[in-house]
Amino acid sequence: MKKINRRRFIMCGGAALVSSTMPAHAFWPLTGREDEPGGSADITGKIFKGDAPEKPWKWSHEGFLYDKLPKSRVMCGICPHRCVLAPGDRSICRSKVNIDGILYSLTYGNPCSINIDPIEKKPLYHFKPRSRAFSLATTGCNFRCLNCQNWEISQAKPHEVRHYELFPPDVVKKARQAKAISIAYTYSEAVTYFEYMIDIARLAREQGLHNLWISNGYINRKPLLELCKVLDAANVNLKAYSDAISRKLNGGRLEPVLNTFRTLHEKGIHFEMTNLVVPGYVDDPDLVKRMCAWILKDLGPDHPLHFLRFFPKYKLDRLPPTPISTLIRFRKLAMQEGIRYVYTGNIPVYEGNNTYCHNCKKLLIERKGYLVKTYNMTGNQCRFCKTVIPGVWEGEGD
Ligand code: SF4
Repeated sequence: MKKINRRRFIMCGGAALVSSTMPAHAFWPLTGREDEPGGSADITGKIFKGDAPEKPWKWSHEGFLYDKLPKSRVMCGICPHRCVLAPGDRSICRSKVNIDGILYSLTYGNPCSINIDPIEKKPLYHFKPRSRAFSLATTGCNFRCLNCQNWEISQAKPHEVRHYELFPPDVVKKARQAKAISIAYTYSEAVTYFEYMIDIARLAREQGLHNLWISNGYINRKPLLELCKVLDAANVNLKAYSDAISRKLNGGRLEPVLNTFRTLHEKGIHFEMTNLVVPGYVDDPDLVKRMCAWILKDLGPDHPLHFLRFFPKYKLDRLPPTPISTLIRFRKLAMQEGIRYVYTGNIPVYEGNNTYCHNCKKLLIERKGYLVKTYNMTGNQCRFCKTVIPGVWEGEGD
């Protein structure tokens, strides 16, 4: 992930970082709860006691979904942690605070990373190949992955990182100026800036842009259903198909993530799955087999699965990179189990980057890194045998 510098952002069409009026949210109290309350705050770090600013700042925005509790406490309803904050406290994701009994997000309109990415980088291989995604992130994450690639922003508080001022209308305008067809909420965890994401996504949908959500999937059903109304595609990280490993490696529970996949599937949203193969944590072939069995049973064979190569980073900087042979083995294994489109990522040149028709096995899309070199699709079909390939392709859904 690259942070854009000011000069490059200007060249990308961001000449004037203009603020605009913030769309108003209706306060949406929680009624009925589909997810387990209490969450996993015990395993995921902590509430930052007494760490909130005294007053809301310019980029504060009232929380989208929360409960007011006795003694001016509040409970956020966006993700399964369900942070309970007393006045003056800051959330587990570092982005939300309780000021005088009101839950505020502090990341509304202040992204810290902006870039124009090829969609293949997300990775999304079956959604509008060869297109550009206007990609942005604020600080904050509701996980604590030991191997986080973007910990400088994901584990930071909003005021600790240089940021831009870009409210939703400005984001949509910049995306169009950059000739992107989508806006991607990515790099850190968009669940934690839900208020900002949903307002951008609604405007983007109105103006004919697609919305892409790149996420750990740790979100409650109610906000996810709201997001699904304007979501076009997602890549959700199935970090470890084991609750114990998820808690240890990522600081979250497995079941809420599985529920996210089920909801996206039920709603007919195009999504792809990512599994980062961290040596010593998630490089067990039996785990891969169990994960594939669950995918086939609950989601079917058509959602693409990406095995990504791990590189040493953050708290796991002493581990070696994933051996390429492990990724090749896992790809073969998942295909033998019945998943039709399985890829390897972070290996620049390998057939695991390419798409082959699941029927005739011929090469449909050849990729070198993020670059598409060969394209053998006709609309949504294999050019050779006319089989419909799962995904959303060029010319579809525009
Ligand atoms: S989104 Fe942030 S504040 Fe809300 S429950 Fe999750 S970690 Fe807590």
